[in-house]
Amino acid sequence: MIEIVIVSGKGGTGKTTVTSSLALLANKNGFKAVAADTDVDAPNLALLLNGEVVSKKTIQVSEKASIDREKCNDCGKCMEVCKFDAIRKSDEGYAVSRLYCEGCGLCQIVCPVDAIDIKPVDNGEITILKTSSGFPMVMGHLMIGESGSGKVVAEVKEEARKLAREVNADLLIIDGPPGSGCAAIASISGANFVVTVTEPTMAAKHDVGRMISIVKHFGIPFGVIINKFDIFPEMTSELRSYAKEVGGIMLGEIPADENVVRAVVNNSSIVEYDPSSPAAKALGRIFDNLVETLNSGG
Ligand code: SF4
Ligand code: SF4
Repeated sequence: MIEIVIVSGKGGTGKTTVTSSLALLANKNGFKAVAADTDVDAPNLALLLNGEVVSKKTIQVSEKASIDREKCNDCGKCMEVCKFDAIRKSDEGYAVSRLYCEGCGLCQIVCPVDAIDIKPVDNGEITILKTSSGFPMVMGHLMIGESGSGKVVAEVKEEARKLAREVNADLLIIDGPPGSGCAAIASISGANFVVTVTEPTMAAKHDVGRMISIVKHFGIPFGVIINKFDIFPEMTSELRSYAKEVGGIMLGEIPADENVVRAVVNNSSIVEYDPSSPAAKALGRIFDNLVETLNSGG
């Protein structure tokens, strides 16, 4: 089983459009595919793949403090030491604000009467879905205002790998989170190949560069896709040279195509919505290049 992660270093470059298209094309071309969405703050791959929920479970990815008011003697020491302003005093006594607490445990150490507990909290979800094309997908979701995105990503990947082994999948195709922080690093961990999606703008070039430096640090082979390549030819030319310079494999370029927007509005992936559109044809060529690259050992 080959694990491919699609990242961009920045949101809005077309990463999910590429991921959904590659998963659908893999399935259409006879590969046994499993898809996963590790954009745990805003997962929407299931919308483009028309996923139907099969099962859902809550997970605990961080800890928070809680005060036992029966034991508390209102000394206020916990509030003094909390660097996150997570402990508040009201008429009912001292209490922890769940949104602010980082679970560092300092309040528990200073409490003279052992009134504070640090407990795991339910703050993530893992959902298994069946796509309308029949292949399975796994989606992770971090609850609003919660921390621990990297841990949710790691859980999604574990679940997706388990599922991929169960169905004897050829390809595990993972939509990575935007940015190049903890969640993005967790998403590429253990991958066989990374696909970076960028567009010809200064911001996208800068952000994909950060992501590529991480991918190279881990020694993972990677390819580059330039989306909307025709909106700024000079920058596209710079991106091509940059990809070559950093050792990326040029997988292809996608033209700006309003059919992609129509597909998204209709909760569909472009390769299904309009297979004869310029963007869908480009994605078909990119899929062929990806398969050829993987067959030649990445
Ligand atoms: S665990 Fe840390 S962040 Fe949470 S309330 Fe205690 S001191 Fe503040
Ligand atoms: S340190 Fe303990 S006893 Fe003092 S206010 Fe906080 S919870 Fe209450």
